[in-house]
Amino acid sequence: MADHKVLAGARVVLPTGIVDNGRVIVEGGRIAGHAPADAPVTDLSGHWVVPGFVDMHNHGGGGASFTSGTVEEVLKGVHTHRLHGTTTVVASTVTGEMDFLAHRAGELSELAEQGDIAGVHFEGPFISPCRKGAHSEDLLRDPDPAEVRKLLDAARGHARMVTLATELPGGLDSVRLLAEHGVIAAIGHTDATYEQTVAAIDAGATVATHLFNAMPALGHRAPGPIAALLEDERVTVELINDGTHLHPAALELAFRHAGPDRVAFITDAMDAAGFGDGVYHLGPLEVEVREGVARLAKGGSIAGSTLTLDTAFKRAATIDRLPVESIVRAVSANPAKLLGVYDEVGSLEPGKRADLVVLDAGFTLVGVMRRGEWVSGPRSG
Ligand SMILES: [Zn+2]
Repeated sequence: MADHKVLAGARVVLPTGIVDNGRVIVEGGRIAGHAPADAPVTDLSGHWVVPGFVDMHNHGGGGASFTSGTVEEVLKGVHTHRLHGTTTVVASTVTGEMDFLAHRAGELSELAEQGDIAGVHFEGPFISPCRKGAHSEDLLRDPDPAEVRKLLDAARGHARMVTLATELPGGLDSVRLLAEHGVIAAIGHTDATYEQTVAAIDAGATVATHLFNAMPALGHRAPGPIAALLEDERVTVELINDGTHLHPAALELAFRHAGPDRVAFITDAMDAAGFGDGVYHLGPLEVEVREGVARLAKGGSIAGSTLTLDTAFKRAATIDRLPVESIVRAVSANPAKLLGVYDEVGSLEPGKRADLVVLDAGFTLVGVMRRGEWVSGPRSG
């Protein structure tokens, strides 16, 4: 049967654990339970097969910006991340004029309808000027629920997440509005205290946008948002595991404290991911990328990353030495659950889409399959 593909001999990571010498059967773009005896077999012994990666916070790649690129450029960025194992990506915007963001949401919602992206994440404009990072200060505004609502409407049901500074006026009402609409309220670019952060979680916020970055540091008299976000079972913390945004010890602390079910690895990638050093733009701001580190030309703030999730996975396995099952949760299952797409992706279970990544024994990516088709790498005989 030409329609079937059988991947055999690899260490397959399932939600129930690692299966040595496992088989993954693909039929009609989905994981199947059985294959006919004459189905073509790809021998993957000595390799890992893990679920395709799900990136819930990503601004672009391959030289293209999800905030300002043309449709063709956005698709190029999506493809670049696919080559690095991200088979599901949410397009994140940066702060812009409200009208621009609403218009952009409409364009991106069409790509979501076609299945090219998994929805839209608005990072800003409802963030704190004290923790603005690489967002334009003159375009920041308080989170007015009516304006939040405008963006949700413009995204036509494809808004997945809004990052906001919940301590600002209108912040908690905006969190409630997002929760009511099934959109993730993410606490980030925030100057909140510990107590203000607890109030936002109680109001319905469930994600910490790139924990540690763009928020007050953990202090022993003023624990701030980090302690509140790490300790609350209702919150998943995003971590950028590129070795620049977080010291490995900070990553380990967060991973150990939150546990493997409450961490999502993200890239927060900008245009230069999978592309190279040079001068780029993040919204209206100029960004210089040198040796893979993106910084604002003015002021030198870190301006997103050039990370791809295959690199985050490899770092986690080889430098942070986290268990592979835990990494798989952080890079696939947890974000898929948060985004409400775990019935389709995020694990290698029969009936789900055949989105998977093949890694060699040293955790270097050697192949990517999306919806049963090889995007790169091993092709079955
Ligand atoms: Zn971001």
